[in-house]
Formats: sequence, structure tokens, C-alpha cells
Amino acid sequence: MEQSKVYFTTFKATEHENLLQKLHRLMKTAGFEQIDFTDKYAAIKIHFGEYGNLAFLRPNYAKVVADYVKELGGKPFLTDCNTLYVGSRKNALDHLDTAYVNGFSPLQTGCHVLIADGLKGTDETLVPLNGEYVKEAKIGHAIMDADVLISLTHFKGHEMTGFGGTIKNIGMGSGSRAGKMEQHCDGKPSVDQSLCVGCGACGRICAHGAPVIKDRKAPLTMTNV
Ligand code: SF4
Repeated sequence: MEQSKVYFTTFKATEHENLLQKLHRLMKTAGFEQIDFTDKYAAIKIHFGEYGNLAFLRPNYAKVVADYVKELGGKPFLTDCNTLYVGSRKNALDHLDTAYVNGFSPLQTGCHVLIADGLKGTDETLVPLNGEYVKEAKIGHAIMDADVLISLTHFKGHEMTGFGGTIKNIGMGSGSRAGKMEQHCDGKPSVDQSLCVGCGACGRICAHGAPVIKDRKAPLTMTNV
């Protein structure tokens, strides 16, 4: 596989170039103008943030990308798939409400939001992979339907992948709800009972009520997550 070119930049702005202009320069340097966007549907894969959470890229950055795609003749849209966990993005209606509350409305970004795996997260395309762990990936239909895929992501720690950036944003985040279930079902938490003091904190914060404390110990493995 050909090695990727990776460009780094700082968050420093100058009187001649603000951060949004810098993002535009970064995209130009990375070769955006070599991509044929003419009349192409360009999916900008992003994370809209949970309701009340501020850990997402500001919509201003999404607008810079969408405007550039349009300038190059493309049809951009912002997209993500529904989450498996309980939260404010588990179906398309809640997901859109959250995206708009967090500033990703068409008025702000100049492009529409499509939830790639549809109303209840069942709108998926089966993609044959024949990988070691996944034989057939379940990917949100609108992402597979797009002609160009752009990952616009923040960087974070993640309990399964270690760190989350572009690969996680696309690889995990493009999975439909069933796809996400497959990714997570082999990663069930377990408890070292010799260290458990039976405080019950895990049971109180678990969205699925999985750890049921018995005889002052959390269970060794969780069955309903
Ligand atoms: S009950 Fe849960 S949170 Fe408390 S010590 Fe045991 S495993 Fe940890």
C-alpha cells in the first residue's frame, strides 16, 4: 500500500491567516484540487457531538470544507451513522436535533446533514471484506453511495482503538447500528473480582444495567451488553 502523506500544522493564527484560512490552505496543499468533484456527491464524515458535550469540531471548519467542495463543483453533505449506545444520536431524528443544536445546520455550514444509516440505523450496505474479524462490514448506505469521502475528525482517546482519529472516524463511525454491534460484541468488559469492593458504581453508570452486584461483587463478565 502506498504510504500516505501526512501534513501537520499548529493552532497558531496570524494577522494574515486565521485558522479557517489555514484549513483551506491545508486542503489545497493536500491535493483537493486533484480530486474530480464535478457533480460528485461528497460525504464529509464527521462527529456532531452529543447533546451538551463540547468535544467536537466547530461547525465553522465543516463550512470551510463544504464551501471548498462546492467551489470545485461537488455536492457536499455532512454525515455520520447512528450510535449503538444510549445517547442523543441513536436514531436519525435525535441525531439531527443534536447536530442542529451543536451548530451543524445548513444555515451555518452551507450544506445538508444526512444520517447515513437512516431513521433507525438499519439502512446499510453490506461490504464484503473477508477480513480476520469481519467478513462483511455493515456500512451506512449514504456513505457507500457517496462518490467522494472526506474525513473531518477530531482526535481522542478510545477504549477499543486506543486513539481515535480518521481511521476510527471512518472505520467504526461509518458502521450502521448492526455494524457497531458486531464491532463491540467481542469487547465485553470483565471484572477482576479480587479487586472489586462491591461499591456498585459500575452498575449505576452502565446504560444497560449490566453489572448486577451479588454477594458484594460485580459479575465476572457482563451478559447484557
Ligand atoms: S462494584 Fe463495580 S465499580 Fe465497584 S469496585 Fe466492583 S467493579 Fe469496580
